[in-house]
Amino acid sequence: MKTKIIQFLILTFLFVYVENLTAQNNECPVLVTQTQIDYMQATQAAREAIDLSNFSNMLHTIPVQAHIIRNNNGVGGISMSEIEAAMVIVNQRYAPNNMFFEMCAAPNYIDSDALYYFGFGPNSTTEVGMAIANQVANVVNVYFAPNLSYCGWAYFPSAQAFGRDWIVMNNICVNNGSTFAHEFGHYFNLYHTHSTAGGAENVTRNGNSSCHNCSTAGDGLCDTPADPVLGCFANVNSVTCNYTRNATDNCGQTYTPPTTNIMSYSCKHCRTDFTQGQLDRILTSYLYDRAYLDASICANTSCIANHNLQSPNDDISTGTTIKYEASNTITATNIIQNGADAIYDAANEITLNAGFSAESGATALMVIEGCGGVYKTSENTNSGINELVEEIAFQTYPNPFSSTSTIEFELPTATAVYVQIYNSSGQLIAALANGETYNSGKHQLNFDANDLPIGMYICQLKINNEVQTKKMLLMR
Ligand SMILES: [Zn+2]
Repeated sequence: MKTKIIQFLILTFLFVYVENLTAQNNECPVLVTQTQIDYMQATQAAREAIDLSNFSNMLHTIPVQAHIIRNNNGVGGISMSEIEAAMVIVNQRYAPNNMFFEMCAAPNYIDSDALYYFGFGPNSTTEVGMAIANQVANVVNVYFAPNLSYCGWAYFPSAQAFGRDWIVMNNICVNNGSTFAHEFGHYFNLYHTHSTAGGAENVTRNGNSSCHNCSTAGDGLCDTPADPVLGCFANVNSVTCNYTRNATDNCGQTYTPPTTNIMSYSCKHCRTDFTQGQLDRILTSYLYDRAYLDASICANTSCIANHNLQSPNDDISTGTTIKYEASNTITATNIIQNGADAIYDAANEITLNAGFSAESGATALMVIEGCGGVYKTSENTNSGINELVEEIAFQTYPNPFSSTSTIEFELPTATAVYVQIYNSSGQLIAALANGETYNSGKHQLNFDANDLPIGMYICQLKINNEVQTKKMLLMR
């Protein structure tokens, strides 16, 4: 179905385990095992071969399935509006990677007194039994439960490697501002910033120092400072979010730990950012370990009925793309910075409240459609409210596919068309259309993958300034 879009540029305006408890709710217990470290080392060369610059401008839609635990009478459990509010924050945090998490089906309710009143622990028989009985394939499964000992936990690096493939969230931590984004971070291969899986990380970033170990120790990332294990109130000021101690590492250097990092144990409300190294590891994991995540299954499912979304007050930073989507209305109060892209997609109404503004050079796309569409805006070259763009209907089928797949698009007018297929390393595999003009109406192109290795491929459709992408999964 074609959708009218009003587009305008605003010019003037793994394994899991127990560790630290803090004064807030008990933290997430994810600890990295030797098996995971071995896996990461064995796949390191393949990960590094992925050229992330090929993927940074694509909108990556990640399908999420919520499983809500209630009692035997179907009472209790978290509300979908609470989950959706938390998803808004998650999407804000992953916007630098153009990753958009979408709740693409109605929630699955698990009505069980045993699970509801007594909870379960990571790796328990109860948890694994519940998860396997309810898993939906090719999406991120998230189980929401009360009465858990931890705020949440997740398994990684992949379903194929380790079988377990889900996130557990404690209802009382869903809206603390950071745990949900933190667990997705684990899901995409991030360790805690204080991890000691590869040894205790030293402070120095001087590559000539004998103390330099940041690329293997700690979380294996040198752009996250060494972290002695933070704790809200214990060594982080809950008001200023500053580190309050002077602890030193094994080489006698004083820590300046990352108190605002999402993967730390800082105060929940202080944890707002990922480093570029973390973002790159997330995107690599998404492309390499989680290629089976398939947002196309979201397209035909119903979204949450009568959902009203309030955008958060956080600015949308330069260089990021974010999408807000709701089945009823959206109220926006945020600032879109110069060079940021924001998409607001509601079925009935979008209200720009006091506090909303878009700086010169920002792009704001308002779509009256609601859940289910998949789009990526292009750069705007015009000014003012000026352009009526028709979204091009675009699909690939079958998907997943085993030998050939059909790429179908429908044009409102005769237009030059580019259709290119990339592999998961970002290499161009096929150019099925190279700027030839196609007439208005429906067109089909055939992609023959008989000689290609199995894996994830990306089909990019470019028409005028509009770029759309679809992931295609080749399986045999
Ligand atoms: Zn954690």
